[in-house]
Amino acid sequence: MYKIMTPGPTQVAENVYKARSLNCTNPDLDVAFVEDYKKLCLKISSLLNTKAETLILGGEGILGLEAACASLTEEGDRVLVIDNGVFGRGFKDFVSMYGGNPVLFTGDYKETIDVNALKAYLDTDHDFKYATVVHGDTPSGMLNDAASITKLLKSYGILTVVDAVSTLFGESLDVSNIDILCGGSQKVISAPPGLTINVVSDDAKSAINNRKSPIRSFYANLKVFFNYYEEKWFPYTMPISDINGLRAAIENIENDNDILERHRKIAKATRQAIINSGLKLYANSGYSNTVSVFEVPEGITAESILETMKSDFNIMIAGSFDVFAGKIIRIGHMGNNCRVENVEETLMALDKTLNKLGFKAKASLYEEFRKCLN
Ligand SMILES: *Cc1c(COP(=O)(O)O)cnc(C)c1O
Repeated sequence: MYKIMTPGPTQVAENVYKARSLNCTNPDLDVAFVEDYKKLCLKISSLLNTKAETLILGGEGILGLEAACASLTEEGDRVLVIDNGVFGRGFKDFVSMYGGNPVLFTGDYKETIDVNALKAYLDTDHDFKYATVVHGDTPSGMLNDAASITKLLKSYGILTVVDAVSTLFGESLDVSNIDILCGGSQKVISAPPGLTINVVSDDAKSAINNRKSPIRSFYANLKVFFNYYEEKWFPYTMPISDINGLRAAIENIENDNDILERHRKIAKATRQAIINSGLKLYANSGYSNTVSVFEVPEGITAESILETMKSDFNIMIAGSFDVFAGKIIRIGHMGNNCRVENVEETLMALDKTLNKLGFKAKASLYEEFRKCLN
C-alpha cells in the first residue's frame, strides 16, 4: 500500500472505512434511509451556508458535472464555458453532448481568470443560459475566484455551474451566486471515490422545471431527484455504504475547526519550499491550497520522479495529463493528506528522489517547508 499524496483520491480515515462496513438496510424500501439521506444533505448545505438543496448521486465526481449540464442544456442553448484548464475546457463536451452551443472564454492556463476581462467580454456578449466555472482546476492546480465570477455572471442574468470537486471544504467559497455546485467524495472530503454532490439553487430548479424539452438522460439527471423526499422514492437504488462513509467523512469535516486555515498554511509553506529549492511553480497566479504543482526540472522525466517516489519511499504523488502530461508534478495536500507530518515525509522523500535523479537543489524542500510553517 502506498501512502497517497495525490490530489484525489485522498487518504481515508479509519472511521470512514468503518462506517462503510456497517450493516445496511434496503435503501429503496426503508424510509429511515430517506430520512438519513435527507439529514446528510441538509448538513452539507448548512456547512456551505446555503439554503440551496444538496443532492448526493451515486457516481464519481464527473457525474455531477455531466448531470448539471444535462439538466440545464436544451437544444441550441448558448453556454459560456470559462476555460483556463483541463476541466474548464472539458465542460464544452458536456454542453455539446446535450445539444447546447458552447462558447469558450479562454484564458492563459498559467493565470487565474481575470474578472475584469470577463466583465469586459460580458459587456459585449451576455446572451447565455448558463456559464461553467471551475473553482480549482486540479490538473494544473489553478484556483479561480469562483465567488466573484459567479456574482458577475448572475448580475447579467446568467445561471452558474461551478466545479468545486477538488476544493470543496479545502478552500473558502461563497456559494450564494452558484446555481449548481459540483463536489465529489474523493478529494478534500476524503471518502473513497464513488459519490458526487450537486447543490442546486431555486433558480436552477425553476430553469430545470421550466424546460421545453425533456432531459436527455436518466442517470445524469437532477430532476428525477427533485421529489424524492415527498415520494420517499429514489430514481435508482442508492449506494448506501458509500453514503454511510460520506456521512462519517462530512462529520470529520464538521468537527475539524481549522481545516481551511490548515490548508492555507500547508499550501503556502509547500509553495515557498518549492521556490526556495530552485524548482519552479507551474502557475503565475491562482494557487490552490489543495494541490501544489511544479515543473519537471530539465533533464529529468516526470515518470522517473513518480517511480522513484514509489519504489524508494512508498509514496504516491501525481504527474498530470492532457496538455500537462509529462510536464508537471502535483503534490495533493488536500483533506486527510493535509497534515504537516504527511507533507514533511513527502518532501523529505522528494528531496532524496530529486537528488538521486541528478537535480541540484538550492535548498532542501523539507527544511524550507519547516521554516516556512513558522
Ligand atoms: C477530480 C475532479 C473531478 C472528478 O473527476 P475524476 O477525473 O473522475 O476524478 C472533476 N473536476 C475536478 C476539478 C476534479 O479535480
